[in-house]
Amino acid sequence: MHGQMMNYPLTISSLVDHAARYHGSTSIWSVETAGGVVETSWAAVSANARRLADALGQLGLGPQTRCGTIAWNNRRHLEIYFGVSGGGYVCHTINPRLFPEQLVYIIHHAEDRVLFIDRTFVPLVKAIRPQIPDVEYIVLMEGRDDALAAEIEGLLFYDELIAKGDPGFDWPALDENDASSLCYTSGTTGHPKGVLYSHRSTVLHAFASNTPDCIGFSARDVVLPVVPMFHVNAWGAPYACAQVGARLVLPGPGLDGPSLVGLIDSCKVTIALGVPTIWQGLLGAAEAAGSGLETLKRTVVGGSACPPSMIATFRDRYDVELIHAWGMTEMSPLGTSNQPLAKHLDLPVAEQQALRENQGRPPWGVEMKIVDDQGNTLPEDGETQGDLHVRGHWILSNYYRKSIESTLENGWFPTGDVATLDPDGYLSIKDRSKDIIKSGGEWISSVDLENIALGHEQLADAAVIGARHEKWDERPVLIVVPAEGATPSEADVLAIYDGQIAKWQVPDRVIFVDSLPRNATGKVLKRDLREAHGDVLVEGG
Ligand code: AMP
Repeated sequence: MHGQMMNYPLTISSLVDHAARYHGSTSIWSVETAGGVVETSWAAVSANARRLADALGQLGLGPQTRCGTIAWNNRRHLEIYFGVSGGGYVCHTINPRLFPEQLVYIIHHAEDRVLFIDRTFVPLVKAIRPQIPDVEYIVLMEGRDDALAAEIEGLLFYDELIAKGDPGFDWPALDENDASSLCYTSGTTGHPKGVLYSHRSTVLHAFASNTPDCIGFSARDVVLPVVPMFHVNAWGAPYACAQVGARLVLPGPGLDGPSLVGLIDSCKVTIALGVPTIWQGLLGAAEAAGSGLETLKRTVVGGSACPPSMIATFRDRYDVELIHAWGMTEMSPLGTSNQPLAKHLDLPVAEQQALRENQGRPPWGVEMKIVDDQGNTLPEDGETQGDLHVRGHWILSNYYRKSIESTLENGWFPTGDVATLDPDGYLSIKDRSKDIIKSGGEWISSVDLENIALGHEQLADAAVIGARHEKWDERPVLIVVPAEGATPSEADVLAIYDGQIAKWQVPDRVIFVDSLPRNATGKVLKRDLREAHGDVLVEGG
């Protein structure tokens, strides 16, 4: 016997509909790419999203067409999130910090037919245009600009495009399991891999975000997602904020400390979300400006390990609760968040504070376990380290256009993180088994760096590790064995990266050694290298 309740699909359009209907006049402030702040509302975002969905249909796009975005956090990007997914297309957010070849790969692999771009990225898109011939429409996220129209053939303008659409357009009836959005992660070896979210996974993730022990946005909050909308959908904040009708502040291109402090104070932000590097800049700027960050109550920090000193500074200096969270693109991204249990409230304050430092525990919807090399489940005693595996409602089952065997192990997703779990489910990330470095929230492939280095005629062997760094959390350090008789300088070695990778990915240091430690099968023992050289970039290292 089935239950006799309405089968009402969990769709992204239902989120913005709710926001428009019950929080229509709620403000959204958007820093424009050209400068200045524009105030809009959930009602206007919803109307423009419907206009856009209608206009995309008029362009003749078929269901599930991938529409790429290369854009900052701003109001038009928000409208695209809801309009593209709500219209039955797939919103594919693209990270502009990637090297142009990776951008071309991603756009091609996703089969994007439309590309929405902010003005900042016009030169980038012009440069790669000949390599992405299958993109039929490039839409500049602005009003008309005749000079640019003359420069880029067939360029469309967002404001003109949506003016052709009907603000009363009826959303198509969608299956909640339909694809809604796509995000590539470069946190894996080889080419970036696509994670294809569904309406259902997105709505369930928003529900979980909005529980009090996760982030718990409310209609009384003013939310500042500093985390870019091209990083796992700004951690899902746009969807979760629509679900509860929170006010939003979209910071545009200015992610420096002074701009953020200005926005927090002028828009009376109550919750902000971002990677640790961003908050370091913000704390320095708040201090310099003499701001007490008076309205800010919580910051959610994740994407990289959050230094305990940052938790203490926010708490003691600004009376702001820092919620340390862990997640992945493959997990939409929320995996855990650090909030206390009832039994912790009776502990001495110092002990309570220490408990807030790890990555926290999962909400309903995420299950975790740690396993050994043979896949055996390890004890959750807070001490035993193992490979972290996860499963749940908003965790990928497979990478986009990849075979299932390559992704899951017995129905669990191997995260590539090495961790401990305690009996209450608190996660502490200890290391990473995936061969990849995370610097300021952005990935750098150690394999790519090694392959390039091995092309250097004066080098016999090379390995790259992530070394601890005060500002960027990790930076690449290249460890090399010179070829017989060769004595290259550090500059000679690093010159090989010119033009081959983005400048911010070039290793910070070269260390010369006689040989690299390897295991019986010839694999470089990165853990040994990290132990020996992991602190070279920090004071006293
Ligand atoms: P991404 O898919 O780019 O969001 O990266 C996910 C990866 O970032 C995780 O697998 C971890 O290696 C790392 N990561 C994310 N959050 C944290 C955190 N709070 N502490 C330590 N590492 C983290």
